[in-house]
Amino acid sequence: PKPSADPPATTVKSYACQRRTPLKHHNTFLTDALEILAENAEFNENEGRSVAFRRSASVLKALPHVVRGMDDLKNLPCLGEHSVRVIKEILEDGTSSEVESTRQSEQYQAMKALTGVFGVGVKSADRWFREGLRRPLDLIHTGQKLNLAQQAGVQYYNDLNRPVTKREAVAISHIVEKAVNAVLSGAIITLMGGFRRGKEVGHDVDFLITHLEEGAEEGLMPKVLNWLEEQGLLLYQKTTRNSYLESKDGPARPPHNLDRFERCFSIFKLEKGKEGSGTSLNTSYDSGTTEGITGTTEQPGPSWRAVRVDLVVSPFSQFAFATLGWTGSKLFERELRRWAGQEKGMSLSSHALYDSKQRYLRANSEEEIFAHLGLEYIPPSERNA
Ligand code: ATP
Ligand code: MN
Ligand code: MN
Repeated sequence: PKPSADPPATTVKSYACQRRTPLKHHNTFLTDALEILAENAEFNENEGRSVAFRRSASVLKALPHVVRGMDDLKNLPCLGEHSVRVIKEILEDGTSSEVESTRQSEQYQAMKALTGVFGVGVKSADRWFREGLRRPLDLIHTGQKLNLAQQAGVQYYNDLNRPVTKREAVAISHIVEKAVNAVLSGAIITLMGGFRRGKEVGHDVDFLITHLEEGAEEGLMPKVLNWLEEQGLLLYQKTTRNSYLESKDGPARPPHNLDRFERCFSIFKLEKGKEGSGTSLNTSYDSGTTEGITGTTEQPGPSWRAVRVDLVVSPFSQFAFATLGWTGSKLFERELRRWAGQEKGMSLSSHALYDSKQRYLRANSEEEIFAHLGLEYIPPSERNA
């Protein structure tokens, strides 16, 4: 064996929730490719395959160096045969034929475009694809029956596919704070999702709202929405009432991974130039010539843009779990639940943690939840798995 001139091999833990995954990493050229295959597997409703590619990509995101050769993959967990083949091809040839042909394929491109419409999931997109539709405009041209979410999705398609900046997220935060404070004093509003993990842009802005006084948060959402509506700030909203039943044994366990908080998927109308001081918007946005064509319906123009906003209301007793559950990333969340179940015999949701004897484990902070799970605390900025 060679003398140990080599740097010590990087050890990477196998669950994403055991690792630190920064936002910026060294292997985008590989993870982007693997994530195309993951996305394509989702379009084909092959969840197992999709998760396998996402886990492989995630391991590479946690490495402190660039992968330059196959030797760098030694001892890494989660890399399946298929992922290794793709990585090898990219390391040797610069690209992977499978990834490139997926990227170019009519199905991938159409599914990407159609699921890019707010309100359109893989099932609808796939049905439309099989009927010959390819682009969002085809939904209009062929007179498809669209639900209200999808109608808003088509109407605001361009805006909703333009990344939301941190500045815009901050501007939306101010609006949400104003709205919530107008109807309930003392409420606590926290930015969740990608922005809490330190992302510079996002596809939406996520908020979790709570109140120190348990129960004070009840009935909050309709009041907040009324206020926003009156101010003309809402373009679309769909609210789901909470459906958790609390008992002295803790919150009831939700089925699957869905949580039961009162929540609202919405689209805000954000005035431009009101995102605070500083330089002007860095994006050169061309609203096109649609303004006026549709007559009565409002179209995004030079003065405002549409932004997707998610609002969630949690009772204070569940706030730590809700915070952990709505910070993401999606893979990090999935891995936390898998760790809890497979390694600890526990059950974790955005409402509660139950141990292997079905006892409710209280927590007042994310740190306490990691401790209950026997995990080292990972801060939000390192949960970009
Ligand atoms: P992006 O910047 O693209 O918005 P994100 O990480 O914020 O990235 P979101 O889709 O906004 O992604 O999700 C944020 C968090 O909210 C994730 O942790 C996800 O698990 C959680 N979440 C999203 N939708 C639901 C839902 N329907 N039920 C429960 N949790 C959800
Ligand atoms: Mn988000
Ligand atoms: Mn969201």
